[in-house]
Amino acid sequence: SEVATMMDVSVTDIISACMMLGMMVTMNQRLDAETIKIVAEEFNYEVEFVGAEVEESVIEIEDKEEDLEERAPIVTIMGHVDHGKTSLLDYIREANVIAGESGGITQHIGAYSVKIKTGQKIAFLDTPGHEAFTAMRARGAQVTDIVIVVIAADDDVMPQTKEAISHAQAAGVPIVFALNKIDKPTANPDNVKQQLASMDMLVEDWGGKYQCQEISAKSGQGVEDLLEKVVLESEILELKANPNKSALGTVVEAQLDKGRGYVSTIMVQAGSLKIGDYILAGKHSGKVRAMFDERGRNVDIAPPSTPVSILGLDGAPQAGDKFNVFEDEREAKQIASKRSQLQREQSVRTQKTLTLDEIGRRIALGDFKELNIILKGDVDGSVEALTDSFQKLSTEEIQVNILHKGVGAITESDVLLASASDAIIVGFNVRPAGNARTVADTEEVDIRTYSIIYDAINDLKDAMEGMLSPDT
Ligand code: GDP
Repeated sequence: SEVATMMDVSVTDIISACMMLGMMVTMNQRLDAETIKIVAEEFNYEVEFVGAEVEESVIEIEDKEEDLEERAPIVTIMGHVDHGKTSLLDYIREANVIAGESGGITQHIGAYSVKIKTGQKIAFLDTPGHEAFTAMRARGAQVTDIVIVVIAADDDVMPQTKEAISHAQAAGVPIVFALNKIDKPTANPDNVKQQLASMDMLVEDWGGKYQCQEISAKSGQGVEDLLEKVVLESEILELKANPNKSALGTVVEAQLDKGRGYVSTIMVQAGSLKIGDYILAGKHSGKVRAMFDERGRNVDIAPPSTPVSILGLDGAPQAGDKFNVFEDEREAKQIASKRSQLQREQSVRTQKTLTLDEIGRRIALGDFKELNIILKGDVDGSVEALTDSFQKLSTEEIQVNILHKGVGAITESDVLLASASDAIIVGFNVRPAGNARTVADTEEVDIRTYSIIYDAINDLKDAMEGMLSPDT
């Protein structure tokens, strides 16, 4: 009947059309995507599937200014491998015990919250690295407020350091630098600051805007100062949320526990979650039976920026799924099952990400202002030359942004960044490596590879001009 209403034909006509296809259907039956397409064609309609979400029931009402209260920042730690991300997360966890709270953090639940000496709280996502961060973002979840980029002071700014910076910048999340391993005699923080400066990232004590702290994740030197800088950065952001409403937030991780059933760690981002609330998380729903903090202690109420693991969902939602609280258990269940059904029905995929052609079409429509590019090349020289030429293609109408550039093959993390940021990937004399091609196919990310600089520039220019004058 929904399809009939959309096309303004009678329900019986739709039922007859289905019968012609050999399908006996009722008025309330949900049709799969392929059937809808064929039936619509019968009535001279073309079907465009636009997103699988059933969000009409979970619209977020905007808060009044007076209802908003300060909330703690949510932080992700990123950086090159072996530069000390895990050590820093571990140290902060343990130092917090020293700061006075009883009972250490015993379980890994994917996120934890600490109180620093000045009394302020900071929540950490306990999965370091930009891959997890961007994978969540590709699913539409924006959880992190501030990124700490860890750089070993006895080393250089490395490829993954650059990636981390690009991923944070693409998400519009401010960065605080932690120059780690300062206890080592070979540590040379000025060298790192110099390298950051050459990337146009001036740290504060060099007159720039980026906060930076020398630390040792091993001895703890400077870590408290680092956390104070994080709080300072969060004050600039004026992070606020209304704690006095139904909770909503994002799933951090979930698993099936033998004794307890499905355990999901969630980050409350607004409102307060209470025991007994009915929640919907991705395709799963249920009543919150119990909540625990990172120390395994029972929690009755979880205000904004609090990570908790909860019991009661009827399955394991995915990291990055949003959750909402419902007045009515039935409604939560209905949407959950509608979502599962829609996902099954999505045999015809929706156009999610951009291709160069799609960019042309959208700019012609006037709803496209930015062309985001991830650029990978075989040598520094060609990457820089292409960056320059691409940026020069910017016009008043369309801004060309190089979200990330680097030397080396196109990686899975490049693809995720493209998917999360609506970008296309341009490879110069490089190809997708490992899983990158497969992920690009599922995420529908456009990868264009070239071996002649001129061709790359021309393609982009053509697409952009096509956008401006679609008929020529
Ligand atoms: P990740 O790969 O970024 O998570 O790095 P890890 O935290 O695993 O650290 C890599 C190595 O560096 C480990 O052997 C750590 O013990 C060592 N490490 C980390 N932080 C420090 C530090 O502040 N000082 C020293 N001397 N070693 C450190």
